[in-house]
Amino acid sequence: MCGVIGVFGHKEAAKIAFFGLYALQHRGQESAGIVSSDGKVVKEHRDLGLVAEVFNEPILQNLTGHIAVGHVRYSTTGSSTVKNVQPFLVTHSRQTFALAHNGNLVNACLLREELEKQGSLFQTTMDSEIIVHLIAKSLQKGLVEAIRETMAIIEGAYSIVLLAQDKLIAFRDPHGFRPLALGMLNGGYIVASETCAFDLVQAQYLRDVKPGEILVIDENGINSYEGIKKENLAQCIFEFIYFARPDSNIFGENVYSFRKRLGYELARECPLETDFVMPFPDSGNYAAIGYAQATGLPFEMGVIRNHYVGRTFIQPSQSMRDFSVRVKLNPVKELLRGKKVAVVDDSLVRGTTSRTRVRAIREAGAFEINMLISCPPIKYPCYYGIDFPSRGELIAAKHSVDEIRRYLELDLLHYLSLEGLLKAAQGNNKGFCLACFTGKYPVPIKASIHKEIFEIKETK
Ligand code: AMP
Repeated sequence: MCGVIGVFGHKEAAKIAFFGLYALQHRGQESAGIVSSDGKVVKEHRDLGLVAEVFNEPILQNLTGHIAVGHVRYSTTGSSTVKNVQPFLVTHSRQTFALAHNGNLVNACLLREELEKQGSLFQTTMDSEIIVHLIAKSLQKGLVEAIRETMAIIEGAYSIVLLAQDKLIAFRDPHGFRPLALGMLNGGYIVASETCAFDLVQAQYLRDVKPGEILVIDENGINSYEGIKKENLAQCIFEFIYFARPDSNIFGENVYSFRKRLGYELARECPLETDFVMPFPDSGNYAAIGYAQATGLPFEMGVIRNHYVGRTFIQPSQSMRDFSVRVKLNPVKELLRGKKVAVVDDSLVRGTTSRTRVRAIREAGAFEINMLISCPPIKYPCYYGIDFPSRGELIAAKHSVDEIRRYLELDLLHYLSLEGLLKAAQGNNKGFCLACFTGKYPVPIKASIHKEIFEIKETK
């Protein structure tokens, strides 16, 4: 769970990257960093914290040059220390490289072991550092060839921007797990995880960086190379369900519209007669709108969100998580008293935040609570960059829908079916990674991780 941005050909490239990261903040709140270059001198600033906390005007003034790469991070591998803040910067054979990575490699442990045996020294615990080491090893063959060789070795999910002194490079894994879009910016170029970053700086979307493609942007313009043969598409459907911003277009499609169609499908599968439909904001908003429109039921905001609290699952300890759930959403008692409600949310992960929220609306006087989830039960962890807990902590891995309904103290619980989800995807359905629902991993998981996934027996 990270956001990346790259800018080429703007006199204040770092400032553009800063605005872009601001728009991508939802993709990672743990740390932020920008590396800039004028083609010769490379500058960097990285720290733990939100984009607005890490950067200020003097810091941005100092990040000179017409090229910049930036990153916001929510760690899926590597611990949260300043050392692990990206972009990862390294100088090799008098050339400086800064790499920002969104995704997760599935063969990182094996590669790291091999590289260490050959004498590589690692500064961080991030899998992204492995990519830099591999590129450096083949550099005498030229940068594009070095990236090609690296892409042939690394496995898993990667959408990467790389600043290589006077060039901006973008490349994406052959399955296209994570989004990466290319835009035009006043004659220059911009590459970002989501198009909402383009809107903020008034850049025009050109196209997505293709799965398996290497894009090289320099003084001569833009050049595209085949990095590795494109494989079966495995675009992360959870980006649509929850992770990406609704005002973004990812994988060639608007996220808001997709989520609304999830609501239409929920209405088809489980039409209810309630006093109104309400979302758990913000994640449930768009499917709830779709559900209300399809059923004709009134739409209400039964709980109000305090916008000054971060995403709840970011909180490390359970007690902190419970507090932040309550501080984040507060029921509107006058609206809920004596009512039958249909509550819509995007997903259930551990079930803990939903339980507290359902209790709160019950205490506020809701008399019948029906819950609709706009995706199927999440039973398997993600190894491609979404931070789902281990299989043991995923509520649907060990419990039936009825057990979950009872745990959440609901009158009814309905999960969107896999068929409904794919219908909402409207024919775009061959190209998704559905591993968190099906356990079918498009890129095989290496033995040690595999054991952890499959050793928990299904009880359903
Ligand atoms: P819970 O009831 O604890 O399962 O939390 C469910 C809420 O957490 C849903 O509203 C989801 O939007 C949100 N969520 C989405 N992705 C994650 C994640 N990777 N880890 C934890 N919670 C998530």
